[in-house]
Amino acid sequence: MEIKFERFHLQADLRSPLKEFATISVPTEVRIDPLTKRRSRIVTWGLPSQGKFDFTQMAEESKGCFFCPENVFLKTPQFINEIAPEGRIRRGRAVGFPNLNPMGTYGSVVVLCPDHFLNLNQFTQEIYEEGLSVSVDIIRRTVAIDPDTRYWHISQNFLSPGGSTILHPHLQVIGDPIPTNEMEWLIDASSSYHERNKTVYWNDLAQIERGIEKRYIKSIGGVHWFVSFAPIGFNEVCGTVEGHGSATNLRKREISSLSRGIVSTLKYYHDKNLNSFNFTIYSISGETSYQLLIRIISRTPIQPYYLNDWTSFEALQSELTSDIVPEELCSEIRPYFD
Ligand SMILES: [Zn+2]
Repeated sequence: MEIKFERFHLQADLRSPLKEFATISVPTEVRIDPLTKRRSRIVTWGLPSQGKFDFTQMAEESKGCFFCPENVFLKTPQFINEIAPEGRIRRGRAVGFPNLNPMGTYGSVVVLCPDHFLNLNQFTQEIYEEGLSVSVDIIRRTVAIDPDTRYWHISQNFLSPGGSTILHPHLQVIGDPIPTNEMEWLIDASSSYHERNKTVYWNDLAQIERGIEKRYIKSIGGVHWFVSFAPIGFNEVCGTVEGHGSATNLRKREISSLSRGIVSTLKYYHDKNLNSFNFTIYSISGETSYQLLIRIISRTPIQPYYLNDWTSFEALQSELTSDIVPEELCSEIRPYFD
């Protein structure tokens, strides 16, 4: 195994107005991701939280949207007959249909629940089990008629900081015959690692992180949950599904574990006064060295005088500046997975 956790310690010296202009040193750590070699910058200070935002007015003003129960079966698109002759794919509360504004070959929306708005502590494991089951069903049915569509992502953008135009909780299921940038980087790095070591990076990483204990959260139903050594998003929590590269073969057990991990992470975000997030499940078929990965990140919460979390560091230097040390995040979030 050749997994290295490399880091640079940086330090800034200054005379602080908060300490009567005495000289202080402020440390920063730059970490290099063991697989992709991408850098993250971990800062030791963070802006104070402004408390929880009250969504009552926002939810009231926008309810009755296309995804609300009175409209979802009347005003949303239907699948072509080859994919779903019944038009829309349903499981429990979840309803899946094609996106009216797709961004690729196959783009679907899965409305998670009849509720127009949910706070992060109101999402349940069952809501995600139903939503992910519909997502997997969409992928299976599409791949059955178009096997060249090997690259899929199941994602959630929640609230406007996460890039969502609609408040109503929903997933995006997107498939193409070509990978996204991130997928290509994951495939290339996983396959080079496999060539050099004859092992799967994701299994090796889970084994090492489990031994180190500082960033490994828990194993649930075939999914290893951990905090990234060098995150690419804020409060990043990851899971890797043993024995699967693609979502097409996910069973009830893995879907339940993914749902439980998502809900546990959202409850933690809620307690930290965060309210917006993104997650993506990267589903890639036909790559033996790749193992299904989910990444969940928080976004700057909606609050008065909103502050975007992408500075020139993230947008133009491709370097995340995280304000929580990954090992601290792991110890804080671990109890939420119990
Ligand atoms: Zn709605």
